[in-house]
Amino acid sequence: MRNTTRLSRKVRRGLEAVSADVVRVYDAYDPVHEILAPRASCSSGCSHCCRAMPPGMYAAEGMALALHLHERSRAEAVHRASRSQMESLAAEEDWSSHFFDGCVLLAPDGRCSVYRLRPLICRTHYVLSPPDDCRPERR
Ligand code: SF4
Ligand code: SF4
Repeated sequence: MRNTTRLSRKVRRGLEAVSADVVRVYDAYDPVHEILAPRASCSSGCSHCCRAMPPGMYAAEGMALALHLHERSRAEAVHRASRSQMESLAAEEDWSSHFFDGCVLLAPDGRCSVYRLRPLICRTHYVLSPPDDCRPERR
């Protein structure tokens, strides 16, 4: 699907500058990830956590993601999916019983579709317990 939203040069330049800063922060954290990841139970394609809770992020990370998705003509589809999730959440009378139906950025194969730009909360989330303990129904 083609983008129907055009970014002005000024907005694009601003988003590119923010994205560059965000990537610098991610790059700075990557060596820590290299040390921690082999010790954790987490592995590529394991995604119960992505189905169990919505990822939070800083505004700058959201802006970097927005530009990334826009450049790949995915921004509008992701926006629609997020909006639909928010509407069903708003319709819940008892939020405690709401079952989050997964991050809209999760690919069908269980991998993160924006892995290089996944938010800090996702980058720094590890467990030592068995992956099955992360299943949403076990929360
Ligand atoms: S936190 Fe749990 S579900 Fe997520 S990758 Fe690690 S083991 Fe898998
Ligand atoms: S952004 Fe990626 S890693 Fe984070 S919850 Fe969504 S799919 Fe999972």
